[in-house]
Amino acid sequence: LADRLQADSQLPAVTTDNVRVTLLANSGLQADVLPGLKFGAEGIGLFRTEVPFMIRSSLPSEDDQEKIYRSLISHYKDKPVYFRTLDIGADKPLSYLPLVKEDNPALGWRGIRYILDNQPLLITQLRAFMKAAAGSEHVHLMLPMIASTEQLDQCLAILSEVHHQLLEEGVPVCRPKVGIMVEVPSCIALLPFWRDKLDFISIGTNDLSQYLLALDRNSPLVGKWYDSLHPAVLHELMRISTMAKKMNLPVSVCGEMASDPVAVMLLLGMGIQQLSMSAAKIPLIKWILRGVSRAQAELLLAEALEQDNATAIRQLGQQFLASKQ
Ligand code: PEP
Ligand code: MG
Repeated sequence: LADRLQADSQLPAVTTDNVRVTLLANSGLQADVLPGLKFGAEGIGLFRTEVPFMIRSSLPSEDDQEKIYRSLISHYKDKPVYFRTLDIGADKPLSYLPLVKEDNPALGWRGIRYILDNQPLLITQLRAFMKAAAGSEHVHLMLPMIASTEQLDQCLAILSEVHHQLLEEGVPVCRPKVGIMVEVPSCIALLPFWRDKLDFISIGTNDLSQYLLALDRNSPLVGKWYDSLHPAVLHELMRISTMAKKMNLPVSVCGEMASDPVAVMLLLGMGIQQLSMSAAKIPLIKWILRGVSRAQAELLLAEALEQDNATAIRQLGQQFLASKQ
């Protein structure tokens, strides 16, 4: 089966009722880039820019960053690439940047909250990114942990300022498509207000589940309760995808859930047609998607949304998948 999956990995994922699902790779290391293509990635759906920062012992310069971003874009020339701005904090510390020890690090100074208090980091990163992406039409910029209109507006203002500055310097730049990670539940109710500010959204189901369930995603003590198939998470995903459809806002999922076969069926049922995952999972998910129809996935989803626990939902999904083999 592994050989077969690999052989078919370059074929598109099209369901039996002709729904095309785009499968992208999550990445952070340059070493992931070529394997991603080998596994049939149709782009990079999440480039975690903090990873190149984490494997160094000092802050990469604007030039260093530009080189990293340029190299990634050059490997995925005509394919979409989604760069996420630095997502650091107590959960992803950098030894050379000041971080404060907090009682609740997941709820603390991380992601965009940290970056807006350390704006030179964002400015340098945006300069490097916009220069590296000059001439490329498929680059996207994602902002992590956005939870309020003030945070989004501050980021967009910095982006415009950096763009303006680079134009004044006469440097070729790109103006990327801009979106947010939907991963802090408080942003969900605000999405309709942001229609004119966003080009797309990408749902980060790892953090979204952590915050909806009030479960530390890294704690072995409560890990047994952490499950993205919890009905509360599914109903919220349904709400987001319905809103996005109404707003005509492109939506993708880039958390671990996007590579869980049962979850993929439910996301397909919700009408989500772009998923980003560890590259090695792409061939299997493509193969599964080619054997099902969206109409069937919609029925499965309707039944799943009637359940009051994740175990029952997983069982329904597994039965469904087994019936397709
Ligand atoms: C997420 O939160 O789902 C996500 C994709 O981002 P990260 O795992 O890097 O926090
Ligand atoms: Mg996250």
